[in-house]
Amino acid sequence: MKIDRVETFLVPPRWLFCRVETDEGVVGWGEPVVEGRAEVVRAAVDVLAEYLVGQDPLRIEDHWQVMTKAGFYRGGPVLSSAVAGLDQALWDIAGKAYGAPVHALLGGPVRDRVRVYAWVGGDEPAHIAEQVAAQTEAGFTAVKMNAAGRTSPMATAAETAAIVERVAAAREVLGPHRDVAVDFHGRFTPAGARRVLAELAPLHPLFAEEPLLPEHGGVLPALVAASPVPVATGERLYGRAEFLPVLGAGVAVAQPDLSHAGGISEVHRIASLADVYGAQLAPHCPLGPIALAASLQIAFSAPNFLIQEQSRGIHYNKHADLLSYLVDTEPFHFVDGHAHRTTAPGLGVSVDEDAVRAADRAGHRWRNPLWRHDDGSFAEW
Ligand SMILES: [Mg+2]
Repeated sequence: MKIDRVETFLVPPRWLFCRVETDEGVVGWGEPVVEGRAEVVRAAVDVLAEYLVGQDPLRIEDHWQVMTKAGFYRGGPVLSSAVAGLDQALWDIAGKAYGAPVHALLGGPVRDRVRVYAWVGGDEPAHIAEQVAAQTEAGFTAVKMNAAGRTSPMATAAETAAIVERVAAAREVLGPHRDVAVDFHGRFTPAGARRVLAELAPLHPLFAEEPLLPEHGGVLPALVAASPVPVATGERLYGRAEFLPVLGAGVAVAQPDLSHAGGISEVHRIASLADVYGAQLAPHCPLGPIALAASLQIAFSAPNFLIQEQSRGIHYNKHADLLSYLVDTEPFHFVDGHAHRTTAPGLGVSVDEDAVRAADRAGHRWRNPLWRHDDGSFAEW
């Protein structure tokens, strides 16, 4: 079997899909994307495809080595995401060629269902209680929300109180048997994050995500040591080498993104690395159906898996949602807040190719908001 063709599709709301076709008619799908930089990743995929066309698709690890290392310059979000999507497509092909779901090729399932959480509150969190109630009524046992929207570099007393109030509102609806996770989105300074974490502790968040930006990793060990709330991070880390110091800092939850951190091949390794540090895995996935399908394959096979993000109804999904490009939506039919294990070969999703080709003709130009502080200076989004 040889790879004949690699295509990419820029589809709303903000995604990029790739389709890898073989001379035997087996087709694999992947989702190589950096949100807001999809066109740039598309160009990187085109360059990598020059190498892949004509190759045996089943030599996944060798292709991963070549794609990540043979260009001399390595890593970063664009290249790692391009490799990630292609790697997903190669695993999809391998599963279809061997007649097995990807998790069977990764050592077999260690669980039969995967707990997923739903987003509430949007970019500027508000009306939390109503939204949490809607998600619990839909069966979810966990939600995640942003701690705050645009925030002063050193959160004021009022801003801090509002953060605590919103999480308290979520906790009141959830009760003690469901969970709320809080995403800081790197919007806080280290000192600001430390103060807010202490105040949130009595509300028992499942975890606090990205309390610091990746570039503040030097003070991460101190923050983790001071935080009574489990710390999660990883959506802006692109491989094992970047996870190593973070795990050494003692984070509780590693959040590699299947579409950013080198795909199924690398996230499988990151999961094992995290296990050595007693950290659990919660793959980042505010993305589309192929990224989620890849995440679930890891979730079914990783012993230290905690919970899975998914984008159904997320505030980013305008003009298309998680189910828009699927022939069969059953894999993402969540029951009691869980995705059930599928046994279909490959990634386990059937992509609606006509819908994808039609959507690509319109494309998208999604960019994240640009926020500024009251004095006009740049503010983290
Ligand atoms: Mg996040």
